[in-house]
Parts: sequence; structure tokens; C-alpha cells
Amino acid sequence: VATRIRLFETVVKTDSRTTQFKAPSHEIDRRRNLAIISHPDSGKTTMTEKLLLYGGALQQAGAVRQKAEQRATQSDFMAMEQERGISISSTVMNFDYEGYRLNILDTPGHQDFSEDTYRALAAADNAIMLLDAAKGLEPQTRKLFEVCRMRGLPLFTFCNKMDRPALSPYELMDQIQDEFQLESFPVLWPIGDGERFKGVLDRMENTVHLYQKSTTRGGKADVVKVPLDDTEKLQELINDEELFEKLMEDKEILDELVSPLDMERVLAGEQTPLFFGSAMTNFGVQLFLDKFLTMGTKPSSRLAVSKADFGSGDDGREVVAPEHEEFTGFVFKTQANLDPKHRDRLAYVRVVSGVYEKGMKVGHSRSKAGKKYNLAQAQALFGSDRSSVEVAYPGDVIGINNPGSFAIGDTLFTGNSRVAFPGIPSFSPEKFCYIRAPNPSDYKSFRKGIDQLLDEGAVQALRQRNDDGGGPLMLAAVGQLQFEVVQARLKNEYNVDSIMEPLSYSLARWADGGWDAVDKADKDGKLFGILVVQDRWKRPVLLFRNDWKAASLTEEEKYLELKPWSS
Ligand code: GDP
Repeated sequence: VATRIRLFETVVKTDSRTTQFKAPSHEIDRRRNLAIISHPDSGKTTMTEKLLLYGGALQQAGAVRQKAEQRATQSDFMAMEQERGISISSTVMNFDYEGYRLNILDTPGHQDFSEDTYRALAAADNAIMLLDAAKGLEPQTRKLFEVCRMRGLPLFTFCNKMDRPALSPYELMDQIQDEFQLESFPVLWPIGDGERFKGVLDRMENTVHLYQKSTTRGGKADVVKVPLDDTEKLQELINDEELFEKLMEDKEILDELVSPLDMERVLAGEQTPLFFGSAMTNFGVQLFLDKFLTMGTKPSSRLAVSKADFGSGDDGREVVAPEHEEFTGFVFKTQANLDPKHRDRLAYVRVVSGVYEKGMKVGHSRSKAGKKYNLAQAQALFGSDRSSVEVAYPGDVIGINNPGSFAIGDTLFTGNSRVAFPGIPSFSPEKFCYIRAPNPSDYKSFRKGIDQLLDEGAVQALRQRNDDGGGPLMLAAVGQLQFEVVQARLKNEYNVDSIMEPLSYSLARWADGGWDAVDKADKDGKLFGILVVQDRWKRPVLLFRNDWKAASLTEEEKYLELKPWSS
């Protein structure tokens, strides 16, 4: 049984002139932060609950869901989550376990909100790919895997639902290899599946953990383990001659055929440690957690785009290490009206280096040099519960009050060196609609609500060329549900009705050559059936009905470079 160890935290005195902003190395070393990527229904909510259970952050599994439900009764927007059984707003959960501090960045499962997941992944150092062992790789796993790969995140794979009939573990390894060119290293290996699921072999310890359903619902499973070389006992406990033989055979095959675990390759995202278990019956979760803590990476260094005296990375760009003596962090999500009773706005900041302290003053990448913001109130976020944070270290996420100054991608820092982390790119939108308020008297609230939601990055706005804000407003998003959330929130938070008219375009491309290039294509008569609009920075965006149309345009107009997104 895991004991929860609370480490002593040094609270630094808050006099900004004498404060040392360098984070103590033991606080950096004990932090692990992670995001779980999965296709809906693979068991992410269940897995998250079980992880929290081991950390003692929950007394009883089921509480994450309960919390979501309680929250849902507080606001109709959240009710949408509940009705459709989807999680819309990503939150951050943290707990202490065995001396480590874990931060779990929750990611919405529904594909329409992959943009939020994308941002959460920008704040994570480790990713866990959760698979339904009966289904293997699914569309949403594929899409999010690409993001992890782009970010170079170390990826840990957990094949869930082994208590149900599953694909062969070799088949799962092949899928990962063939589709992702990612080599698996089975750390745990399953013995049987479904009704005949007997447990897992821990290949690092050479012990077999026998499958036990947890007796109390939501309780922790007892652990029964047997050394692999105690064959007599093992045979007796597995109690299935065929599976016992298979286990012995599999072990030899794996030892012979699988390349050894290479942590450097894991951290580079080239090899994935592979686990099997059943989150629902609580089997394999603690084993996974224990291994993850030692194998996962602590908060890592980040590349920064501006000149600062941080030392140089291998490729000559600036790198901010968590040990850097100033505080730095970036905003990866903003949200308004979390609590309808207080019209509050929060910016979620991932701490990259140094120490956050309540009341500290920071500079801001988009503001004039010398302008300081007071970070008076940071909150830890756990579902809708909030507690005030006195101090936070690299890898942590804090929610700070956002008077409207902080947007996604912004960098905050102490000290005189201005630093900016690269912006967080977006997915290219695939759904488009016009939106308007039918009631002229609602116009002001409509604008206010829309502006707020655009600031949050809930959707993007497009307008006709040269429109300064008076013309029809078009919204662009990755998924239809994002529009529905905008409508629901306009209604609930700003009390305005809105009307949406869908448009039949399915692809947006930014023209690299700007308006000159677009005008030339227009003169050549090539823009028939293509809608040309502008984004919020008045850059041209071309909307197409299909990929083919975009491809044929660039084929004909060689000078025209189209990009999925221009940040
Ligand atoms: P999410 O959509 O990925 O968050 O998935 P949930 O955690 O909500 O799980 C989806 C369904 O799968 C629920 O009915 C769970 O009870 C079930 N489930 C989750 N983990 C397991 C498991 O290990 N075994 C079985 N048999 N069912 C599971």
C-alpha cells in the first residue's frame, strides 16, 4: 500500500528585492507532469481516477465523475458536458505520491475539442497514450500522437481493458510500430485476456503480478506477486497450463527479439515503454505509476525565441532550463466565467523555470519593457475546486486572475531579460459558420461575449476583406461542438440568443504571399468557388470546399503558397 509522503516545501519570503527566484533542485527533480491522450471511451476518466486514488487525492474512485456532475449542476454550460458525456474544459490535477509531485493535465476526449488537448500537450512533459486493448489505435489517438511527436514528448503506452477480450499484445506492438514507426518496449506483458486474464509479467523485475479484481468497488487492488523462477507456485496460481506455457514462451521471444530499453530513446520519443492492465478493476495502474515516476522526465528545458542570457541549446537557440534563476512561464489556456457567481477570468500558466510566489511582479512578452503585472492570486485547479497557491515550481500549473491582458502563448517572467516562448500553433479549422444576434438590443452583449470567447481561443473569427468589425462575423473551428459551446455560453454567460448559419467549406488555407498573391490569383480568374476572407490580423484566408480544390489551385498558380495555419 502506497504511503503518501508530504515533502517539506520551502516557502520563500516575498520581498521582491531580496527574493531568490531560482527553484530548489529537489522540487524540480520530484515533479512529473503528464497528459493522457486517447480515443473517447478508452478509459481515460477511469484511469485518471485510479491515479488520483493512489495519490490519496481521492478517497474513492468515482469522485472525478462526481465532481464533474456537481459542477454540471452549477452551470448550464457544464450541463452540456454532462448531457453528452464529454469533457470540455481541461483542468489540472495534482497530488503527491511516494515523494513525487504529479501534475495531470486533463485533456478533453471529444475530437471537437482537440485544440484544447493540443494546448495541454504544449504544457506537458510526458504523454501517456491510453489504448483500448480490443481496438488498438483509433482516429483520435492517431491525431494526438502526431502532436506528441511534433513536440518530441516521451510517450508511455498503456493498453487498457485487459479484463475484456483483447487484441494480441504482439498485434498491438505491430500497430504502433507500423503506423507510428515507434518501437515498443513491453515493461509489463499480459497473461491472457478477457475471462482468462491472469495478470502481467513485470519484465524489469521478473515477477508475475496476478490479476486480482479489487474487492471493494473503487478500492485498491491487493497485490499478489510471484517471482518468475518460482515456476511451481506460478503454475499453480495461474492455473491454466496453456497460458503458463505461453508466458514462458513469450518471455523468451521478447528477451530475444525486443531491443533493450533505452531511456535516451524514450525521452526522444523514439521508443515507448508498454504496459497492460485494467483501469476499471484497478489492475496494473499502480505498477504503471511506480514505473512512470522513475522513467518519466522531470520538467524539461524549453526553447525560447527571444534573446536572453540563458545559455544556448545544441542548435544555437536559447534554452530556458528549470534551474534558471528567474521565474518564467507561459499561458496555455484562458477561461472566463468558470464560476458563474464570480465573473472571473483565469489564465493557466505553466511554470517553466524558477519559483512562483504569491504577489510577485512579472513582465509580459507582449507588453512594453518595464511594465509589470502583479500576480496576486494564483489558484491550484482541481476540477472546480480551487485553493490558493503560495508557491509553485517548474512543471506546475497555476491559474492566475486575468484582467484581459494575458492570452494563449504569452510568456511571463521576472528579471530584466525579456523572454518569450514560442507561440502555441492551432489546428487548422474545418468547420465554418456565420453567427449573429437576431436581437439588435443584444448587440453590445453579443460583441462582448464573442470577444471574450475569441480571446479564449474557443473558436477563431474570420471577416470579409477590409471589414473593421461592422460586417458579418464568421466563426471557424475544428469541430461543430465548438460552435455549440459558443452559443450555449453566449446564452448562459451573456444572456444573448444567437443564430448560426453553417457554411459548406471544409478547409482553410493561409496565403503566404499575402494579399498580393491572392489578388494575382483572382486576376487570373482562379478563385471561383473559393471564399476569400481575412483573419483577425487582416491576413488573407482562403476557404475551400475540399482538399482537391486547394491542391489544384496551387498546381495552377505556382507562386501561391498555401499554409494550414499561420501564427
Ligand atoms: P474516457 O471516455 O476515455 O474517459 O473513458 P471512461 O473512463 O469514461 O470509460 C469508458 C467506459 O469504459 C466506461 O464504461 C468504463 O467503465 C469502461 N472501462 C474503463 N476502463 C475499463 C477497464 O479496464 N475494463 C473494462 N471492462 N471497462 C473499462
